[in-house]
Amino acid sequence: MAQQEPRGMREQLWDPIAGFGVTFRTMFKKVVTEQYPFEKLPTAPRFHGRHQLNRWPDGLEKCIGCELCAWACPADAIYVEGASNTEDERFSPGERYGRVYQINYLRCILCGLCIEACPTRALTMTNEYELADDNRADLIYEKSDLLAPLLPGMEQPPHPMRLGDDEGDYYRGTWSAPAPTERTASQ
Ligand code: SF4
Ligand code: SF4
Repeated sequence: MAQQEPRGMREQLWDPIAGFGVTFRTMFKKVVTEQYPFEKLPTAPRFHGRHQLNRWPDGLEKCIGCELCAWACPADAIYVEGASNTEDERFSPGERYGRVYQINYLRCILCGLCIEACPTRALTMTNEYELADDNRADLIYEKSDLLAPLLPGMEQPPHPMRLGDDEGDYYRGTWSAPAPTERTASQ
């Protein structure tokens, strides 16, 4: 086996100088360290964060309990149970609504396939990324955790359809009555 050549005096002197040169140059570069969680930087606009179940402008829920999101999920992280609306107890326009809706964030990989599968745009993703917790149960988000907040002028379901005579008016946007928010604004 060939013996390693001893390093010359020149290399032995030069190597530490070259190393300190790297340190010296780096001292003047822009610092990239992020002081999280004390300073929170905004995410990219299309960042995939926590999900949200959206509402129509009158407060009715957009989810129709069809389970397409659950079938599209590669991690089996979504559980949906649909139920029928009645004229006395209506949660969404049309026949069905999502009675039970859960997302298990221990499984979810935030890939976004579920929101692509949703036919009513009921399910979208927010930019919220702080999803850690100290126990497993609290990482299964229920419908109440995922529903969008009621904005001014929205009404907590169940209530009748305020924006049209049937669900077609909602989906086509051909609302025969102004949204409650618009009514409030014009008053
Ligand atoms: S983001 Fe991906 S992994 Fe998470 S619930 Fe949706 S489809 Fe499933
Ligand atoms: S979120 Fe969308 S895809 Fe999932 S059950 Fe509701 S309507 Fe269907």
